[in-house]
Amino acid sequence: MAQVQRMSRLMVKTLRDDPADAETLNHKLLVRAGYVRRTAAGIWTWLPLGKKVYENVARVVREEMDAIGGQEVLLPALLPKEPYEASGRYEEYGDLLFRLKDRKGSDYLLGPTHEEIFTQVVKDQCSSYKDLPVILYQIQTKYRDEARPRAGVLRGREFQMKDSYSFDASDEGLAEAYALHRAAYQRIFERLGLDYRIVSAVSGAMGGSASEEFLAPAPAGEDTFVDCPECDYAANTEAVTFALKPVSTDGHAAVEELDTPDTPTIETLAEHLGVPASATLKNLLVKVDGEIVAVGVPGDREVDLGKLGEHLAPAEVELVTAEDFVGRDDLVRGYVGPQGLEKVRYIADPRVAPGTSWITGANKADKHARNVVCGRDFEVDDYVDVVVVEAGDPCPACGAGLKLDRAIEIGHIFQLGRKYADTFQLDVLGQNGKPVRVTMGSYGIGVSRAVAALVEQTADEQGLCWSKEIAPADVHIVAAGKAVQTELALDVAEQLGAAGVRVLVDDRAGVSPGVKFTDAELIGVPTILVAGRRSADGVVELKDRRSGEREELSVADAIARLT
Ligand code: ATP
Ligand code: MG
Ligand code: MG
Ligand code: MG
Repeated sequence: MAQVQRMSRLMVKTLRDDPADAETLNHKLLVRAGYVRRTAAGIWTWLPLGKKVYENVARVVREEMDAIGGQEVLLPALLPKEPYEASGRYEEYGDLLFRLKDRKGSDYLLGPTHEEIFTQVVKDQCSSYKDLPVILYQIQTKYRDEARPRAGVLRGREFQMKDSYSFDASDEGLAEAYALHRAAYQRIFERLGLDYRIVSAVSGAMGGSASEEFLAPAPAGEDTFVDCPECDYAANTEAVTFALKPVSTDGHAAVEELDTPDTPTIETLAEHLGVPASATLKNLLVKVDGEIVAVGVPGDREVDLGKLGEHLAPAEVELVTAEDFVGRDDLVRGYVGPQGLEKVRYIADPRVAPGTSWITGANKADKHARNVVCGRDFEVDDYVDVVVVEAGDPCPACGAGLKLDRAIEIGHIFQLGRKYADTFQLDVLGQNGKPVRVTMGSYGIGVSRAVAALVEQTADEQGLCWSKEIAPADVHIVAAGKAVQTELALDVAEQLGAAGVRVLVDDRAGVSPGVKFTDAELIGVPTILVAGRRSADGVVELKDRRSGEREELSVADAIARLT
């Protein structure tokens, strides 16, 4: 017996217009279809239909986590600051962390992710290698004071995450736990009906090594990734900066190599670099009379020596080195993560006025600082990591031109190693009786974000368009007419419900068939069954929400089809 929900009793108010401040499809449609309601910036209420969809995603995640031996727990969201102080993240998270005090003045935080607390749990519960391996997970509310919580449930300040953590006594064990998660994530996203890519990622705040992201391509996404059409190379542009670094052929000379003491002419400069005087160079700064006139950054902008030569007397051209960045806060963009300045990512075009907000597609505004000062905020040599990738840049694996696309980060898996185990001295007794330091992995899925990602990828002009596994019901029955139609609709609903089919039946009186059809399309249940004109003859219409295909059937045939 599955639930029959009657629209006449369901708390759902659909809206004809998009909410005024909505920029993304998920925000517009989830609000219009009555799935969610905005309580404050980045803080959402899940209404009855939305809660059903959310729970369906959570169920799929749970089933696949259980299948790899994950044990579900539930940790608090309200956390003491001490463990996060011990790991350094109380400071490193900066403004992203919601901090609060209790009545006695002690410091607390609302958990943004739970590596510290899980490490403590396992330290308390596991003492021998025989207690390992362990995979723990929770589906829980997380808090991050995101700078721009604009994209609907895609980026909440309060949001739901499945986070899991693996604990192993050996590196091989960690590799295995990582592989298990990777496979589970593939099954999860396939079942959810998300189009996704697995890409190399930087470890960011977690401080890990091996790391991959699951990205759902969509224009609303805030990540950019490169994808090779020729081989299986794919990476978040945050990671490509490092992957492309070794490329130093055809003018992609590394800065260290350009350390010329004298003022070169274009000719000597070209000779020094081993390129023709007409070459286009990247990773190069050119200064004239002490003023920087051209900056070449691999994959971002280039210095055309030939063109420079047309406008300048060759002797005026001075090749500058990384040292010249020292003190130049107008030239450098830093990538600021929770650990402070993590990587220098971007060198501004000197023609852009200092302070101009210049954010490339690869960057997320909330993480990039302006006015970063070389020599103060980072080491001079660090800046060779500066790469912003462009479409067409050579694939580091095979050289083919890379494709660039936007995507939503729906999942992220890390091999953390012993970072947190070191902090909390998490050891277990090894086989030989000596203590062994535990190695960890951490793995996240944005459960609420997955709902938004599904909308971004599958909705159409009419509204939401759920896959069967995720939809709030299997069938949406529209009683399009008067008492006969309503009677038939409720009868069919009951029969389907009894057969285990989840039904939403629009039995509202005084609502026109037109409005009911529009609402059915907007709400997005995969199959729409219409009890309309031919109800008296026992004939209904079945419509596939996604394809729009419709077919008239006898009630018996329709029920047989749907059960
Ligand atoms: P992003 O790059 O989008 O800020 P993140 O890399 O900071 O995400 P992780 O720390 O890797 O996120 O968290 C694991 C998962 O939690 C992410 O892959 C994403 O699906 C989800 N997530 C992270 N931040 C949010 C948020 N503000 N709202 C909704 N889901 C989120
Ligand atoms: Mg983030
Ligand atoms: Mg990220
Ligand atoms: Mg991430």
